[in-house]
Amino acid sequence: MAAASPKDFLVIHLSDHPSAINELDESAVSKREQPEGDCSQIRMDQMTLMSRPEAYLQDLQMMERCLELAQYGAKKGELPFGAVIVSRGHVIAEATNCVSSESDVTRHAELVALSEAQKVLKRKRLQDCTLYSIVEPCPMCSFPAREARIGRVAFALSSPVMGGYSKWDVLKDDDLSNKLPEVFGQPPEIVSGLLSAQAEQVWRQWNPLVWRFMKRRGCIGSAADLPERHAAVPRPMISWTALAAFLAAPALLVSKAFLHSRAGSRAIPKLDPESDS
Ligand SMILES: [Zn+2]
Repeated sequence: MAAASPKDFLVIHLSDHPSAINELDESAVSKREQPEGDCSQIRMDQMTLMSRPEAYLQDLQMMERCLELAQYGAKKGELPFGAVIVSRGHVIAEATNCVSSESDVTRHAELVALSEAQKVLKRKRLQDCTLYSIVEPCPMCSFPAREARIGRVAFALSSPVMGGYSKWDVLKDDDLSNKLPEVFGQPPEIVSGLLSAQAEQVWRQWNPLVWRFMKRRGCIGSAADLPERHAAVPRPMISWTALAAFLAAPALLVSKAFLHSRAGSRAIPKLDPESDS
């Protein structure tokens, strides 16, 4: 099965989930992104256009949906992966792994969801979107996520051996966007450890033996007590690479004109097929 059909306009309201307010612990938010005197309870999150508690609730609800999708996929014979893409409170795409059903190792849930979201939104850039996944995306999924300029990535379990964040420096690598800003977006905000205990339970239920094997080898990260949030790199007003290219442009034009004049003065003779030499 490919991606499930997107839901219509799911909007999260804090008042519907009063218990989650109590669960919200500001210590879960990295101190380095908290300026002095910051009142994050009421500050609107620039990415989600929600208050922090509302954004946190959305994160919880979307991760719950990822767990459901992972269970659904496992029943179909897939590994228990699930991914959801949300833009400003609206579910755009959701997917299970389709590797077994399509005999295609590239059909990871995150890639299926990314592709579906771009089709639904009819655009390549997903800078206003959050990618939720039960497990940290692998490098294969992380590269297209960076190319699609995904704004946030949230996952339950880390992947220290195969992850595009913990193991391979794809999701947080700013060299990609600094040197190739035409192709890659800035590193997204990362939220890790969301509902990780429940995610572990999904994997354990799927296959207790394989789960124990993977845990022993350190393939999947342990459950975190609280979600961790890693702020996105601030998006620069000016790209230094673009600025350097702009400043270099006149010099390039002069050198091109110089080369052209030299080529004109010493024109390469055309080959004459009738010539003996
Ligand atoms: Zn992947």
